[in-house]
Amino acid sequence: MELEKSDLYRFPWSQNDNAIAWLEVTDICNIHCEGCYRQKLTGHKSLEDIKQEVLFYKKWRNPDNISIAGGEPLIHPHIIETVAFIAQQGIKPILLTNGVRLTPELVKQLKDAGLSGFTIHIDSHQERRGWTDKSEAELNQLRQILAEMIAEVGGLTVAFNSTIYPSTAHEIPAVVQWGRRHPDIVHGLVFITYRTAKTDESIGRSQDDELVDLGELTYATDHFDEEFVKSPDVYKLIKETCPEYEASGYLGGTIKHDSFKWLAGTVIGAGNRSYGALGKKGLELVQQMHHMFTGTYLAYMSNPNVGAKIFLLAPFDPQVRSALSRWLKDVLLHPWRLFKPIHMQSFGIIQAPDLQEEGVADMCDSCPDMTYFNGTLVNSCRLDEYRLYGGLLTMTKKEKTEPKAKAGEG
Ligand code: SF4
Repeated sequence: MELEKSDLYRFPWSQNDNAIAWLEVTDICNIHCEGCYRQKLTGHKSLEDIKQEVLFYKKWRNPDNISIAGGEPLIHPHIIETVAFIAQQGIKPILLTNGVRLTPELVKQLKDAGLSGFTIHIDSHQERRGWTDKSEAELNQLRQILAEMIAEVGGLTVAFNSTIYPSTAHEIPAVVQWGRRHPDIVHGLVFITYRTAKTDESIGRSQDDELVDLGELTYATDHFDEEFVKSPDVYKLIKETCPEYEASGYLGGTIKHDSFKWLAGTVIGAGNRSYGALGKKGLELVQQMHHMFTGTYLAYMSNPNVGAKIFLLAPFDPQVRSALSRWLKDVLLHPWRLFKPIHMQSFGIIQAPDLQEEGVADMCDSCPDMTYFNGTLVNSCRLDEYRLYGGLLTMTKKEKTEPKAKAGEG
């Protein structure tokens, strides 16, 4: 159960050849999420600026998909045109939304415009009408309503992501159990571990060594005593809940050799039975084949209901071989299960930036969520440091940076 990097495939993504590009169409939102990285400074981007940004990503990022984020992208007046423009460029548009605005009619319009799928952010530290102060287990009901609404339209992928706080980590099993019961309409679950800048402990300095007020950042809090959750903790909880799950790919940290900033795993199952997981060799083959035949690396499958085709990876991947053998045994004992569609369901874990003693953060190596800022690509989780202070801040512990008293003073 111990995670070893040698058992995992390191995603081959880089700044200029990455499966994902991150487009923020607005910095306005219609709900409040604790730990959100974005604050309202500029409002909606114009459709012309959005199109230029998409073309920038196409040229410099080579993405398989563009994650349309915000703020809340569904409140942008040109969201349909944005989706259509991305699809026209041969790139998969994926909407990252809180789901508040979703209606069956809007889902249909977005699908007709070329949308590939949704990633819906729901967690128990959000303030949303009718659902505030609910537990993660209670929020499964909301997840279910939205997943069924999208499945009704059909042909779209659906993943749910949640920010994980020390106080909510124990509810991960409830979300995983719910997801495993609905692999036909829930194609992925993503858990993002909460991080915050602590204004009571840290001093922020700009690139010009000016002191800045960290309290201006939406992701700063005046105190936070609990121990942050790490990716291996989340991995362990998923594994305990679904023993057939296994991680197959990772992205490390930009500073720490032993951090797991992104962990990806895919369970192979039929109905709510799990037969095993994609292994590192299968994942490597999928990434390399996709790049060879389409020119891009892969983050989101257009259709996770791949069926028994997944077992074609068995000769190359011992984990897929084990899954195939379990499936065959099951079908021999219960022949009617041969007709149950085989599903792939992904589990992602993201460990947000970890501040180091020297004041810089351990970020995700080959950050997949880089976004456009003033002609460059920057980590979207820290975009507001660029917008407010012109660049990344260093955040050192207060006691280390406070000037020492001169001899004879104090
Ligand atoms: S470094 Fe990139 S991938 Fe990691 S949390 Fe920040 S924006 Fe997301």
